[in-house]
Amino acid sequence: MSTADLLRQRGIQVTAQRLAVLRAVAGQPHITADGVAEIVRAEIGTISLQSVYDALGLLVTEGLIRRIQPAGSPARFEDRVGDNHHHLICRICGRLVDVDCAVHAAPCLTPPEGLGYEIDEAEVAYWGRCPECVAQAATASVADPAPRRRERKPARPPQPRA
Ligand SMILES: [Zn+2]
Ligand SMILES: [Zn+2]
Repeated sequence: MSTADLLRQRGIQVTAQRLAVLRAVAGQPHITADGVAEIVRAEIGTISLQSVYDALGLLVTEGLIRRIQPAGSPARFEDRVGDNHHHLICRICGRLVDVDCAVHAAPCLTPPEGLGYEIDEAEVAYWGRCPECVAQAATASVADPAPRRRERKPARPPQPRA
């Protein structure tokens, strides 16, 4: 189905701006609003950041895209919706990737009983270190016996042992 049909199917008026915004998100999962604005400007010319936010907000409300906001990060948008997938986020380099839900159906965490709320989703984010940052830390600790630091160091080959 074309992007325009996707909008029409939801009863959303098709505009060049909305099409471009939806295509930008589809082409680059987990993109920020700034990133969307950059792509859309290159494609159709001037668009205000507010118009980008408006289009993103509408597409989120209509369920065509999903908005995620990891702590300490600007909001990000993706068009992979409806599968209750989660995200792995690296604390060191900030890389964010998709991971399938092990349970598949939402909510995948069981809340305590008797809350009186109708719960349809548990927001899950896995925080840690990505494989590259883990490998880098291992290399750094071989080369440098000083305590591990939080900032990312340039790659350096292991030093020969004395
Ligand atoms: Zn990392
Ligand atoms: Zn995702």
